[in-house]
Amino acid sequence: MTARAATDRKVTDRAPSDWRGATALVTGASSGIGRAVALRLAGLGLRVALVARRADRLADVVAEIQAAGGQALALPCDVRDLDALARAFQAAQAAFGPVQVLLNNAGFARQAPLLSGDPGLWRAMLEVNVLALAAGTRLAVEQMQAAGRGHIFHLSSMSAHRVPPGSSGMYAATKHAVKALTEVHRQELHEAGLPIRVTALSPGYVKTEFVHTLFQCDDAAAEAVYAGIQSLDPDDVADALIYALQAPPEAQVHDILLRPRRQQS
Ligand code: NDP
Repeated sequence: MTARAATDRKVTDRAPSDWRGATALVTGASSGIGRAVALRLAGLGLRVALVARRADRLADVVAEIQAAGGQALALPCDVRDLDALARAFQAAQAAFGPVQVLLNNAGFARQAPLLSGDPGLWRAMLEVNVLALAAGTRLAVEQMQAAGRGHIFHLSSMSAHRVPPGSSGMYAATKHAVKALTEVHRQELHEAGLPIRVTALSPGYVKTEFVHTLFQCDDAAAEAVYAGIQSLDPDDVADALIYALQAPPEAQVHDILLRPRRQQS
C-alpha cells in the first residue's frame, strides 16, 4: 500500500472522545474499582448513576462526588434482580438523560470448588458476574441508541485469560464468559451498525474488598492477604478505562490486561 493510499483509508478523527455532560452508569460503585471509576468519571464532567446493594456506601460516594462539584445519583439495587436493574436504568435516564457510558463492574468470587462447593454460590457468581452484565448491556444499548453513541465496559479479569491454580471454582469460568460476551457484544454491535464501543478490562490483583468477600474475612485478615502479594490500586484500573474511553471515536480498545509487575501467574 502506498503512503497516499494509507492516508485515504484513514478515517479516524484523532481528537479524543469527549464525554462531558454524558450520563454514566456504574454497577458495583459502592467500593473498590467501581467507586474509583465513578469518582474519575464525575471528575471528567460525566453525570454518574451508582448501582450496588449497600445504600449507605453509595450515599458516601455521592456525597464525595457532590463535594467535588460533580453530579451523582445513588440507585441501590441487587443486580441479580433484573427488574430492579431495569428500574435503575430508567431512573438514571429520568434524572440525567440516556446512559452513554456503562461500566459492568459488580462482581465477586467466593470459594466454592467444583467438586465440593456450594452450587448456590456458583449460581450467585454466574448471576452477578455474567447474567447481570448481559442484561445491563442490553438495557444500556437501548438508551445509547437514543443518545446516538455509547461505550460499554466489562470488568473482566486476568482470570478470563488463564485459570490460576487454586482458582475459586466457578469464578474463572464466569470471567471466561465475560471474555466471550465482550466479543459477542462487539460482533452484534457491528452487525447492527451501532456507534457503540465495547471494551473489557482484565486486571490481576487489585487491592479492594474483593478479598473480604472471597475469604469472608475482616479488614485485618484482608490486609494480611494483601501484605503477601503485590497489588494494583483501583485507580490503576480507572486509568486504563479512561484511556479507552477517551480514545478517538473510531478507535475501539478491545481488552486491557494489566497486572502488578510482580504478580507471577
Ligand atoms: P469489591 O468487593 O470492592 O467491589 C465489588 C462491587 O460489586 C461492590 O460495589 C459490591 O457492592 C458490588 N456487588 C457485588 N454483588 C452485587 C450485587 N448482587 N448487586 C449489586 N452490586 C453487587 O471488589 P472489586 O472492586 O475488586 O471488584 C470489582 C470487579 O473487579 C469485579 O467484577 C471483580 O470480579 C473484578 N476483579 C477484581 C480483581 C481484584 O483483584 N480485586 C481482579 C480482577 C477482576 P455491594 O456489596 O454494595 O452490593
